[in-house]
Amino acid sequence: MSLLEVTGLGKSFGGNRAVDGITFSLDTGELLALIGPNGAGKSTTFNMVNGQLRADSGSIKLDGVELIGRKPRDIWHRGVGRTFQIAETFASLTVVENVQMALLSADSKLYSFFRRAADHKRDEALSLLDQVGMKVQADRPCSVLAYGDVKRVELAIAMANSPKLLLMDEPTAGMAPKERNELIVLTKQLVIDRGMAVLFTEHSMDVVFAYADRMIVLARGRLIAEGKPMEIRDHPKVQEVYFGSGKTFEKLKAQVA
Ligand code: ADP
Ligand code: MG
Repeated sequence: MSLLEVTGLGKSFGGNRAVDGITFSLDTGELLALIGPNGAGKSTTFNMVNGQLRADSGSIKLDGVELIGRKPRDIWHRGVGRTFQIAETFASLTVVENVQMALLSADSKLYSFFRRAADHKRDEALSLLDQVGMKVQADRPCSVLAYGDVKRVELAIAMANSPKLLLMDEPTAGMAPKERNELIVLTKQLVIDRGMAVLFTEHSMDVVFAYADRMIVLARGRLIAEGKPMEIRDHPKVQEVYFGSGKTFEKLKAQVA
């Protein structure tokens, strides 16, 4: 049994079949990329797994337990994490305070005032920050951080409930190529160190082909290919549907670069 088993998953919006019966699985220790053109159904898939959207058909099992029909918070407690952008209200808090808040939330403790977080879980928060290379900046307000560093803190926050599976929908959006690579390298390290699984979407094909253990490709809600990066790269259906007819991967790369 895989950690995550998605079977025949479907979702329509009106007459639009956004996700059309997709089946895939994900094991612990894997970094799985979900790629596909805009509108392919990637975010819809993510939102069904995390419980934000209810599937019309199929099954989503985590450790054999059906997730469809469960509330997002329940799914989160069961070990499905996701990255969130640090809200504006929290930007004035320090880096370590933001992680402490997340740790409190993971414990379901009530917190009425931000300052209460200051006394709790500082060591645990610092340890998480250490894992993302942000310990030295722990006492700086998030508002003054470089963009790539904010993303690292967001990753530490997502680690707070020790997810078995982490969902990252376009984690590197808006990042420069160097920062993008660094974030994915860091994510891959966390997958290895923490024995976690990650499902992510990413526009940079360089990043995906370099770091994903496996890839699945969606087009118009259908899963059209699955395999290791090298297999996907040479897959005729992917070349045709995803990269556009007549375009080779190398041409596409040149176009994107
Ligand atoms: P991707 O993330 O791959 O770009 P999405 O999952 O966001 O694709 O969208 C898949 C399809 O579903 C698109 O046709 C999109 O317009 C449609 N869609 C997504 N979310 C909604 C929604 N909340 N209401 C109506 N249509 C939606
Ligand atoms: Mg999307």
